[in-house]
Amino acid sequence: MSLGASLRLQQEVADTYRHALIGGYFYLAGWLVVAIYGQAFKHSPIISWSLTLVFLGLAIARRLHKRPLENVDATVFNQWLRWHWSIVLSTTALFGLVFVWTLIDERLAAGHTAVLLSTMGLSVAVAHAFSMRLNFAMLCVLVMYLPGLITLWLTPKDPAGAWVMTIYLLYVVATLWRSHHEYQHRLDIDQQLRDQSDLFEKQGRVDALTELANRRFFTESIMQMSQNAKADNSDLVLMVLDLDHFKNINDQYGHAVGDSCLAIFASRLKIKFDGGGGHAARLGGEEFGVLLQGLTLNIAMQQAEDFRALCASEPICVGDIIMPMTVSIGVAKFDPDAHSDGDGLYRAADSAVYRAKNAGRNQVCSLQPAVV
Ligand code: GH3
Ligand code: MG
Ligand code: MG
Repeated sequence: MSLGASLRLQQEVADTYRHALIGGYFYLAGWLVVAIYGQAFKHSPIISWSLTLVFLGLAIARRLHKRPLENVDATVFNQWLRWHWSIVLSTTALFGLVFVWTLIDERLAAGHTAVLLSTMGLSVAVAHAFSMRLNFAMLCVLVMYLPGLITLWLTPKDPAGAWVMTIYLLYVVATLWRSHHEYQHRLDIDQQLRDQSDLFEKQGRVDALTELANRRFFTESIMQMSQNAKADNSDLVLMVLDLDHFKNINDQYGHAVGDSCLAIFASRLKIKFDGGGGHAARLGGEEFGVLLQGLTLNIAMQQAEDFRALCASEPICVGDIIMPMTVSIGVAKFDPDAHSDGDGLYRAADSAVYRAKNAGRNQVCSLQPAVV
C-alpha cells in the first residue's frame, strides 16, 4: 500500500465518516432529556452546560473532521481513522459518565429510565454503525455501558434494571460481532468484484499467449498516437513484424511448440522495444507490431535491423528442440500528408512487410526514402 491507500481502507474511511455523521446529536438529545427531567440545569448548571456544549462540539466535530482525499498514503487514512474514532470514543465515554451520574445522584432520579433506554439504544447504534473495527466499537460500547451497569449492580435499588441491562449488553455484543463479520464479508465481495473487473479489463487489452498488448488495444494506440504526432508534429514510427515460414514449425513440431515459439519471440520483442517510448503488440497469428515514439525513420530502421539480426543469429529453443527463426519487418514513419490517420500508417507498414517477404524474407523494408 505504498502508492495510495488500498481501496478497502478507503472504503472503510468513507463508511466511518458517513456512519458517524448524525449519531453525535443523539447523545446530545439523550443527555438533554435526562438533564431537563432531572432538573440538572438548575442544581448543577456548570456541569450541565459544559456537558451540553461538549456533546454538541463532539457532534459537530464528526462532520468537520473531513476524510482525506483519495490517493493519499495509507498512513494518512489510518491517522484519520484514529482521530475519528477518538471523537466517537470521547462521546460514548462521556455518555457513560452521564449514565453513572444519573444512577448515583438522587436529584436526577426522573431521568433514570431515560438514561437506561438511551444507553441501550445508543450502544446498539454503535454496534450497527461502527462495525468496521470490532475492537474500537467494542471499546466504545463498553466505556458507555459498563460503568453504569456495574453501578446498577452495586446499588440494589433497581435489580430488574440491572438484569435487563446485562442481558441487553450480551445482545449488543453479539450484534456487533455479527455486523462486523457482515461488513468484512461485504468488503471481501467488493474486492473480488474489483479484481474481476480488473481482470476483464486486462483481458480486453492483453494477448493471453504472449502477454503483449492485443490488436484491439494496439489499433487504438496507433490511432491515438498518430493524432498526437499530427498535433505536435513529432516522430512516430510503426513496425510490422511477421515470422518467416512459421507454418513449417507448427507442421513439424506441433501447435504447442509453435505457441512456445511465439511466446519466446514476444519476450524478445518486449525486451528490445517495450517501454521507453516503444509499444509492442501481437497483431494476431505470427504477426507483431511495434510503435516507436520520437524516433526518426533512420534510427527505427537501424533498430529493426538489429532485432532482425539478433533473431537470425539466435535460434529459438523449446525444450530440446532448437529452431532457427527469422522475421521480416516492414517499417513506416507517420506522414500526416500521406497517411492522414493511423489506418494509413498501418497500411504503409503492412505493405513494407509484404515487400520484405517478396524480397526473400529475413529483411527490413520501408516504402519511404531512408532519409526523412
Ligand atoms: P510467411 O513467411 O509467408 O509469413 O509464412 P508463414 O508460414 O509464417 O505464414 P502463413 O500465413 O502461411 O502461416 C501462418 C501460420 O501461423 C499458420 C498458423 O498455423 C500459424 N499460427 C497462427 N496463429 C498461431 C498460434 O496462435 N499458435 C500457433 N502455434 N500457430 C499459429
Ligand atoms: Mg509469417
Ligand atoms: Mg502472417
